Amino acid sequence: MYYILGKDRIGRKALDPFSPQISIFQAQAVAAIVIFDIDGVIRDVSGSYRRALADTVEHFTGSAYRPTQTEIDSLKLEGLWNNDWEASQEMVYRYFETQGCSRATVNLNYETLVAFFQARYRGPTPQSWTGYIQNEPLLISSRYLEALSCSGIFWGFFSGATRASATYVLERRLGLRAPILVAMEDAPSKPDPTGLVAAVNQLEAQYEVGANLPVLYVGDTVADLYTVQQVKAIHHSRAWIGVGVVPPHVQDWARYAARLQQSGAVVVLENVEQLTPESIFSLTLSH
Ligand SMILES: [Mg+2]
Repeated sequence: MYYILGKDRIGRKALDPFSPQISIFQAQAVAAIVIFDIDGVIRDVSGSYRRALADTVEHFTGSAYRPTQTEIDSLKLEGLWNNDWEASQEMVYRYFETQGCSRATVNLNYETLVAFFQARYRGPTPQSWTGYIQNEPLLISSRYLEALSCSGIFWGFFSGATRASATYVLERRLGLRAPILVAMEDAPSKPDPTGLVAAVNQLEAQYEVGANLPVLYVGDTVADLYTVQQVKAIHHSRAWIGVGVVPPHVQDWARYAARLQQSGAVVVLENVEQLTPESIFSLTLSH
């Protein structure tokens, strides 16, 4: 089923993003592209990546310090620490700085740290999926994605997770078949927008996608929304719309949502499935 849109009877600026009045529009079909972040959007990583992060910081500070969820949130809200290995390393450094040490004197090997993190998160070997990853709650159903497809909406994924980890959740847990995915190995870290553009280009190459369709990027961090700001500055010929989702572990919802909005989110949702075909079309009309 395609949602049919047409003449904007009530004025574009007046559109409520989730207005059911969208159904009164007539005439032409409208399509859009939605690219999803994965961690915090597609899967709840509070008991996996974040637990592995806390374990790692605890281990490499000699059990002197284990960061709380709130402390990890505060670091993430800086917008620079999308990579959880680098975030772990940074929290270890900051702990030792509070103890009066300079970074240069801290004996910390990044590869050893990454190996420890991966053993907790993924399991002891690259082939084993026996770590925290196996218990990640999903925040999305495959039926939701089918509904987008049925409504003329193309979708894909751009994530800072490793390809193996992202593929595990998308294919083994959600049951998708070779979805469009740009992962850690494929592009620079967010907020560099190269991977977002690559995901859009891959969708356009694989499907019959109309030129310059509006793109929504759905993410749960400041870095995700900075990515949208950066791509807007480079690619002017299409509409880029940042959609924020507050991840499940967040305790201060209002503060977190406000920060996402300040970072460029045009709307902030409690759950990604609130981004319905109707709301997608409405957002594309009003931006
Ligand atoms: Mg995320």
